[in-house]
Amino acid sequence: MTDQPADGQRPSNLFYLASLRRPLVDRADGIYIWDQTGRRFIDGSSGAMVVNIGHGNRTVIEAMKRQMDRVTFAYRLHFENEPAEELARQLAAHMPEGLDRMFFVSGGSEAVESCIKLARQWAVATNQPQRWKVVTRFPSYHGGTIGSLSVTGDDALVESFRPLLRAMPTVPAPVTWRDRDNFSPEERGVRYADMLEERILEEGPETVLAFIMEPIGGAATAALVAPDSYYSRIREICDRFGVLLIHDEVMSGAGRSGRFLGGDHWDCLPDIVAMSKGIGSGYAPLGAMAASSRLVQPLLDAGGFQHGHTYAGNPLACAAGLAVLGEMDRLHLIDNAAAMGDALMGELLELRKRFPFIADVRGKGLLIGAEMVADPETLAPIEPGKKAYQRLLDHAYARGLIIYARRVKGGLDGDNFIVAPPMVVTREQVDEIVSILGDSLE
Ligand code: PMP
Repeated sequence: MTDQPADGQRPSNLFYLASLRRPLVDRADGIYIWDQTGRRFIDGSSGAMVVNIGHGNRTVIEAMKRQMDRVTFAYRLHFENEPAEELARQLAAHMPEGLDRMFFVSGGSEAVESCIKLARQWAVATNQPQRWKVVTRFPSYHGGTIGSLSVTGDDALVESFRPLLRAMPTVPAPVTWRDRDNFSPEERGVRYADMLEERILEEGPETVLAFIMEPIGGAATAALVAPDSYYSRIREICDRFGVLLIHDEVMSGAGRSGRFLGGDHWDCLPDIVAMSKGIGSGYAPLGAMAASSRLVQPLLDAGGFQHGHTYAGNPLACAAGLAVLGEMDRLHLIDNAAAMGDALMGELLELRKRFPFIADVRGKGLLIGAEMVADPETLAPIEPGKKAYQRLLDHAYARGLIIYARRVKGGLDGDNFIVAPPMVVTREQVDEIVSILGDSLE
């Protein structure tokens, strides 16, 4: 049986978002992607901030072919494999010192689940079984599986699944630009971080296991960056209460921010990191969790990490990840992300002068977001109840530019968009993106 198509649509057995039917994709190269009618699009959001090294990288494809000729799958309980070992070694070399133990999965939600389960097992192995709560921020996005959804602060995504397995405590995300007070940005950073302390005290510090945050916001907060003071204060509070700090770098990691990890911009070393998207860069479904030996060793001593997914650490995905990392280094893509990110930020700040409804532009490297409101003084939303962001998406799409845009229910009232092209983007291509974006905003 095939779904009955609406007028003019293809029949399909797939179901995603019922209203959203898109053209069939044909091929892709660099920052461009073509549909089967030959129409070209600029992939201005790298899919959903995934294809960090750009489409069609021959070196990665050849490395994957070589791996496919040897072996594509070997179950990790039966065999270890060299690509996984080498990828773990090389990822550790790109990470802050101390985050040296890796665990591979197939995506971002699995990586977040792994972080929570690692933290739980660490608590049990270190005689703190009463610690189970994972404080999260609102708004935030941490994944679509029921566990990662339990720490996601986004009402629209969560409401149909309530009651969740167990709703987790939240603190407000540091959306400091919206505050109308006399505090300096650094003072606001500290005030937002201190809300974590208040929440931990309310919950009972002995029950709080971890705090999870995106160091640079993503789907829920469009590249939200907090004042510098926020990050060090959060670390201090976690340390004071023995709470583990989990950084969800699924979107902000793998070089996109102009440093390997988004968190590398601040002096705030997390205990556990979730990664995905850019480390496989769309060539293979790949996710990773990084943690310190201090954390991992007690539970290994207590019998091992009770967690795993069938495709965890499979040789083909790891060979792809290894080649992606190699290309990121060989082509100096992290430096390019920093430089092109500065250029893009500069141009978006210019667009903001042209369109006063763009009330805030923020981000790092090639993860840049903007928030649109009807009135930047009162922060009144554009067309409450309607989807202004969807109109922007559609206008850009019609002009051959793909961006990422949303409004988070129960969260920021603003309509957000993210511009995050692949890290191979050139200066001329940045100009092209901004020019189309300007026409679409008009
Ligand atoms: N965490 C963050 C910060 C994300 O941006 C995403 C994906 N948008 C996820 C987790 C979930 O990743 P996946 O869709 O690969 O499961």
